[in-house]
Amino acid sequence: MSKFSDFNFAGHKALIRVDFNVPLDEQFNITDDTRMTATIPTIKKVLTDGGSVILMSHLGRPKDGHTDKYSLKHLVNPLYKLLNVGHTNPAIGDGSTRVFFADDCVGPQAGLTASMLRPGEVLLLENLRFHKEEEKGDEAFAEKLSKLGDVYINDAFGTAHRAHASTAVIAKFFPTDKRMFGLLMNAEVLSAEKVLHEAEKPFCAIIGGAKVSDKILIIENLLERATDIIIGGGMAYTFLKARGGKIGSSLCEDDRLQTALDILEMAKQKNVSIHLPEDSVIADKFAADANTEVRPSDAIPDGWMGLDIGPKAVGIFNEIIGKSKTILWNGPMGVFEMEKFQSGTKAVAESVAASTANGAFSLVGGGDSVAAVNKFHLADKVSYVSTGGGAMLEYFEGKVLPGIAAIKD
Ligand code: AMP
Repeated sequence: MSKFSDFNFAGHKALIRVDFNVPLDEQFNITDDTRMTATIPTIKKVLTDGGSVILMSHLGRPKDGHTDKYSLKHLVNPLYKLLNVGHTNPAIGDGSTRVFFADDCVGPQAGLTASMLRPGEVLLLENLRFHKEEEKGDEAFAEKLSKLGDVYINDAFGTAHRAHASTAVIAKFFPTDKRMFGLLMNAEVLSAEKVLHEAEKPFCAIIGGAKVSDKILIIENLLERATDIIIGGGMAYTFLKARGGKIGSSLCEDDRLQTALDILEMAKQKNVSIHLPEDSVIADKFAADANTEVRPSDAIPDGWMGLDIGPKAVGIFNEIIGKSKTILWNGPMGVFEMEKFQSGTKAVAESVAASTANGAFSLVGGGDSVAAVNKFHLADKVSYVSTGGGAMLEYFEGKVLPGIAAIKD
């Protein structure tokens, strides 16, 4: 693979796999453009060098071919604006970056427009998933896509765990010096590798969220690396029950009680400290207007449920996070979407930010913990916020991500 930042794109047509899978409202306005803005620096570097850019992405999960709702045509104007921030006259032809659209990602129109692109111009292709071959990783389809550019750049970390035509299979149609990670992908991979392979100790992993079953593999992999594992959120109650605690009607996966015990035993053997919340904010119903109390997490009365970690747990977790040099955070500590149950997640976010200010490296990955740091306006106070939820989770489970392997191999 080549190093993107060292490559001179002058005269090249760069085919870039991006993750423009952004949420749209009913009028097709983008409600959160983080995924698009994250990849703009990669696009701009190619254009500034004097190259042209062909962008390919999926949007949503279309089932039956071309569907207007999932068309990338809705992203043309927002993309144009993002690429031309600061221009006083946004009319095409004023010297600003031109953005063309092909209403199919393969076929004659895409081929012709790509071949006619001039340096500094951008072509956005229609949704890759309008062709079922994309998700099947079809070789012939990947080869057709590959013909559109002479350099392949993968900047879509969010889909790096998928062995799809545009994310992985396509790479083999480019020589090794003409395939590379974009700036976003590179930053994601570097920060994930820093945590997994070069973590300065003490290394604390904070794992929360609803279900133990979703997080078993990541916990098992982290047992090989972390010094401390903090377990919060709904999943903590399966561990607490497994240890003999009374958890009332808190979330519990009864078929995972033995798994929880096995994890606690493995941690002992590997000298990793697992920390469960000492106390909880309990509620008499799962609702924003529930009555609440604070109780020890292993003595929750019948009919009540733990929906957040309590103040003692916050204090203990804060101390552990504060002495850590590497921090990985995946999953909230409680039902942070409701104000009454957000304190624990907010406090942990603040502890991670404070520890980062003291020199720790912190990586926040996984949908809901990213939503939490954004909600509490702390995203710029941690070292890295990952854009790839599922991909980051699989990376930390120790899996090889096809999108990464295809570029590197
Ligand atoms: P996950 O996608 O597994 O990371 O789970 C995130 C979800 O877990 C969020 O929507 C939280 O509201 C939910 N959650 C966190 N703590 C609890 C809890 N104690 N009881 C029920 N749900 C919870």
